[in-house]
Amino acid sequence: TLHAGIVGLPNVGKSTLFNAITQAGAEAANYPFCTIDPNVGIVHVPDSRLGVLADMVHPDRIVPATVEFVDIAGLVKGASKGEGLGNKFLSHIREVDAIVHVVRCFDDSNVIHVEGNVDPKRDIETIQLELILADLESIEKRLEKSEKLLKSGDKKAHVEVELLTKLKEAFDEGKAARSLSYTDEEKEILKTISLLSMKPILYAANVSEEDLTRGEENSYVQKVREIATEENSEVVMVCAKIESEIAELEDEEKQAFLEDLGLEESGLDRLIRAAFHLLGLMTFFTAGPMEVKAWTIRRGTKAPQAAGTIHTDFERGFIRAEVVSYSDFVAMGGLNGARDKGLVRLEGKDYVMADGDIVHFRFNV
Ligand code: GDP
Repeated sequence: TLHAGIVGLPNVGKSTLFNAITQAGAEAANYPFCTIDPNVGIVHVPDSRLGVLADMVHPDRIVPATVEFVDIAGLVKGASKGEGLGNKFLSHIREVDAIVHVVRCFDDSNVIHVEGNVDPKRDIETIQLELILADLESIEKRLEKSEKLLKSGDKKAHVEVELLTKLKEAFDEGKAARSLSYTDEEKEILKTISLLSMKPILYAANVSEEDLTRGEENSYVQKVREIATEENSEVVMVCAKIESEIAELEDEEKQAFLEDLGLEESGLDRLIRAAFHLLGLMTFFTAGPMEVKAWTIRRGTKAPQAAGTIHTDFERGFIRAEVVSYSDFVAMGGLNGARDKGLVRLEGKDYVMADGDIVHFRFNV
């Protein structure tokens, strides 16, 4: 499974946010046979389509998709030099598939900022610099090696030398690997180098209770958004403190609480969905009397591999997929209605799944 790692400087609200995640968490009951690492939080991906489908199909149970977050506390300035257990944290970041960077966007004189004052731009650059310095170290040795290969007449090393040189120049200027563009050939090489600054990132701007309910973005959040826009990343505004309170409530209470605050949705729900997307994931559904279930696949997955997430036999014996889009299913009042209108397609092994597809797989056993 893919994980999103939560990082940020000390005192920005990471633990508070992570607590909200584990409180809201899907674990325990659903994972009776796994020991869940205390640093991992598994949460449901909120998806209003599930409720709509359930109202039509009346299943025994509804199973939402999940997303996993890892708490990577302790990243500080100087981490790449091994200060404050820094290298250990960087190695944790290496293992995640995407990064959620919590940035402090609230003033509170009771909460000390490690750098003395609130400054999202500086905080983002501080973390980014640590990732870049770690990356610089990983590529330097490799660059030396491939330069030697090239000198000894290995022409194939040429592309790698150029790529690594381009990366080194970017790192020297404080630019992340994700900010450059790459040829397909370079992308293949990049797969063999695990670069921290290549990982997709989203910013969780942690604001005060007042700012969350005011609805307007404060100047700190605007700064975060400026940086995010430049690098094509997303920003989700949350109030970690409120999220941790909401996470303790039952669904109905939660709705009432949000309405009181004048909010449609909790920041955590938006963050979960954004992380799911950042991880490159999407959902298809199965809908029957037993259950309505959201299945998680990577975007671009073909029908047989999607079938394989349900059962390996489904993939091995894959014949065809009966597919109807969510909107057609709903508009036609269900599978039979959609079938009558010819809206249920028979798709073969090369079909690329679309988000929201409602699928029935046909397979040989
Ligand atoms: P971490 O070091 O990044 O894990 O930060 P914590 O989650 O431990 O939070 C540091 C301090 O900031 C704690 O005292 C929190 O109660 C406080 N804090 C976290 N989120 C918020 C928030 O949204 N608003 C305010 N006012 N304080 C917060």
